[in-house]
Amino acid sequence: MPSLRCIECDSTFSDQEILYVCPSCDGLLEVAYTAGEVEERLDIDEMKSGVLGVWKYRAFLPCDERVSIAEGGTPLYKTDRLADWVGVDELYIKNEGGNPTGSFKDRGMTVGVSKALEMGLSRVGCASTGNTSAALSIYGAKAGIDAIVLLPAGKVAMGKVAQALMHGANVISIKDNFDRALELVRQACNEKDIYLLNSVNPVRLEGQKTIGYEAVEQLGWEVPDRMFLPVGNAGNISAIHKGLREWRQHGIIEELPKMCGIQSEGSKPFVKAIKNNQKKITPEGEPETLATAIRIGNPVNGPKALNAVYDTGGTAESVSDQEIVEAQKKLARLEGIGVEPASASSVAGLKKLVDNGEVEPDEKIVCVTTGHLLKDSEEIIEVCKPPKEVEANLQTVLNHI
Ligand SMILES: *Cc1c(COP(=O)(O)O)cnc(C)c1O
Ligand SMILES: [Zn+2]
Repeated sequence: MPSLRCIECDSTFSDQEILYVCPSCDGLLEVAYTAGEVEERLDIDEMKSGVLGVWKYRAFLPCDERVSIAEGGTPLYKTDRLADWVGVDELYIKNEGGNPTGSFKDRGMTVGVSKALEMGLSRVGCASTGNTSAALSIYGAKAGIDAIVLLPAGKVAMGKVAQALMHGANVISIKDNFDRALELVRQACNEKDIYLLNSVNPVRLEGQKTIGYEAVEQLGWEVPDRMFLPVGNAGNISAIHKGLREWRQHGIIEELPKMCGIQSEGSKPFVKAIKNNQKKITPEGEPETLATAIRIGNPVNGPKALNAVYDTGGTAESVSDQEIVEAQKKLARLEGIGVEPASASSVAGLKKLVDNGEVEPDEKIVCVTTGHLLKDSEEIIEVCKPPKEVEANLQTVLNHI
């Protein structure tokens, strides 16, 4: 059985305990496996030959598959036209919009809800900027258990609220921001025996590790020089780093990619910490950006994510909303990859670092685009010119072509 280990004081706990932080020191927990228990489950040839998806990497996951909707197995595109625009030779996009609800959160939830079922729990909950709630709701529905989600009122893209509602979650909109919603749901989960599936939950993060596994596999078992990720609560960048570290321990890969985290100008506590070489993040009170999925002032996985960057010699950068929209349009118009704004920040950040000379043109790069275009159609109507309305006759139409 894997255990839960505190990343600060190294205490370990049973994985059957419902814990999100260390009871002794409040540190973040991570799932820890002994070398023996991974090896017992791992058949490398079998792993390499299976169909792409989260559960093919089950030797590195903390429970068995109990609920799945064919998550993961998302495309890795080689994007030559985008590479030209960015100014690098070789650029790949790992497009997580290809998941069942259109974001990478599904990878975490298939594992998190499977764990809830293993422990016999009948309610799951989260706070969310939107995508977490959509993913929790769909896996709750498929598993036949209750999902409770807290959203910051007025700050969630409509497509995401629509998903949570249609999949039958109990959706509660609170009149404050995401950080407050998370505080409240943590308390509510403790009071009501609800399994909390925000990214502070180390079991959920195990599912998200598989983004890195798939990218390496899709590159023919080659590790890219760098991986770029949007950073909100900083769970995803931490998860991918942990997963690839575990692969290195087991000799599946030899090196780690440099992990690079991108935030928006209006919401960049993580970037500030990295630029000042700090070991701790100072939260920001009023995060603001059109990239709602990363409008987060107090990233809960800060310590893990700082470690991911420092450990790999990676970096962090912030980009303006305007740069995000520009990258979003380039993805859509040069490559046919439609993403929501937060996703495009990974590409915008890469471009900025190439322009600054911090990233070399000959590095092999993977940018993760985290969520689908249709999540946030209001934003699109805002940043693209709405269609012209014209008289319905052929001459007028021809005049407009
Ligand atoms: C959740 C989310 C993020 C942020 O991921 P973290 O793990 O919180 O850093 C980025 N983009 C999209 C589309 C998301 O849904
Ligand atoms: Zn501890």
